[in-house]
Amino acid sequence: MSTVVNPDLNAKLVKFGNKSEWNECYHCGNCTAVCSLTENENLFPRKVIRQLQMGLKDKFNSNIDPWLCYYCGDCSETCPRDANPGEMMMSARRYLTSVYDWTGLSGLFFKSVPALIIAFVLVAVSIIGVGYAKQFNLESIMEFGHVFEKMLIFSVVVLILIPNIFHMFWLTIIKEKIKAPFLLYVKGIWDLFLHMFTQKKSLKCEKNTFRWFEHLLVVFGYILLLITTVFLNWFSTENTYIIWFGYIVGGLVFIITFDFILERVKKKKELSKFSHPSDWLFVIWLFLMGFTAFIVRILIDTDLISNNLWLYIVHLIVIAQWGILIVPFGKWTHFLYRSFAVYFANIKSAELNS
Ligand code: SF4
Ligand code: SF4
Repeated sequence: MSTVVNPDLNAKLVKFGNKSEWNECYHCGNCTAVCSLTENENLFPRKVIRQLQMGLKDKFNSNIDPWLCYYCGDCSETCPRDANPGEMMMSARRYLTSVYDWTGLSGLFFKSVPALIIAFVLVAVSIIGVGYAKQFNLESIMEFGHVFEKMLIFSVVVLILIPNIFHMFWLTIIKEKIKAPFLLYVKGIWDLFLHMFTQKKSLKCEKNTFRWFEHLLVVFGYILLLITTVFLNWFSTENTYIIWFGYIVGGLVFIITFDFILERVKKKKELSKFSHPSDWLFVIWLFLMGFTAFIVRILIDTDLISNNLWLYIVHLIVIAQWGILIVPFGKWTHFLYRSFAVYFANIKSAELNS
């Protein structure tokens, strides 16, 4: 098989926010030596930099390694050339997200802030339009909101996320000629979900422990908030347990994400030194989802919601922007791709060692 060299590969990565000086790298291998997550079959980040320098686009597109990095920053802190390999891995993840996405919208939104702003405004205007069509009647807008959330989850999963995972599978396993028996895929499913919800692999970087715990709370808080609002109908229920449960998980999400926002503002850790617009959107919208849901429920409980309908509309706009733009095309996808990368990497490794 011939290898296609693409000299523009780095220019492409720059468009995805790569501000690292990766070209300063002289391949001392220090980053790979200090990385606690790299393994024999996945020697990153040096190998990724090598592919980038050589413009090996096809190899780069099929590479799982960027997803196996949890951005602890050890490699960047110890690189003698300040090449910032940790940040390069982060931009590689953004780039790969756009490679998997069949719609092309991930690439557009990662590369163009104006396109992102236009999309956010269009979603907001559409929701206000729905409010207008419903004559700003609280009950019918809330009814719409409830059905809309369910339809949105179903459509995004079926139309965008599942096809993109298959595309990732095609690039990283099929194209790489990995012929693993079906049983290996079945055996790996438990691990896939375990990694998806716990990200336990990131614990290999010792300094990640607190962040891992915060991340775990946010993941469970977010999932439980979704279940409470969408499936247990939090805004309409009169069940005291569900109401309090919603307050706890909503509060959990916005308190921890507020801490994530502060970290990005302070820029003290390697992970938060460089923030791409997609990083900001992710943490701010996660915060807004928890916060606005919390406030809406307080207004319902104090019988003040009819005088503050606009707050429910703001909440609906935040949910719609999150569900239509950030989940299928933004940083949220990392949750999915990283988990599948661990799954595929385990299958690849088991097959190569058999
Ligand atoms: S430590 Fe720096 S210079 Fe050495 S291989 Fe890694 S990125 Fe290159
Ligand atoms: S940021 Fe941490 S996990 Fe990622 S490549 Fe560097 S050392 Fe490894």
